[in-house]
Amino acid sequence: MKKNEEKETNIAKQTGKCNDKKCPLHGEISARGRIFEGKVITKHPKRIAIELQRVIFIPKYERYIYKKTKIHAHLPDCMADNVQIGDIVKIQECRPLGKIIHSVVVEKVK
Ligand SMILES: [Zn+2]
Repeated sequence: MKKNEEKETNIAKQTGKCNDKKCPLHGEISARGRIFEGKVITKHPKRIAIELQRVIFIPKYERYIYKKTKIHAHLPDCMADNVQIGDIVKIQECRPLGKIIHSVVVEKVK
């Protein structure tokens, strides 16, 4: 199994293409809608979860609070090796790909 995986990644690097149908660059998925930027907190095969921090104003107390949002995103095969936990990535909304996945990783920022 490991040998096959290595061959596939080598091919992907050489040709700049991957066999992932859900890849925004090489597949049939069109990324459209809102773009989010966040830190990768978990990594699974073909899926990552990122965390964003938002500032919300509470009128009653006239103060701001920090709220965290977690978003699951599809990780295409061609970016699987580059993205690790702790990286900052950019994701974009697309059609629903699963029960909890409705966005894809577009690029790695850091
Ligand atoms: Zn790809």
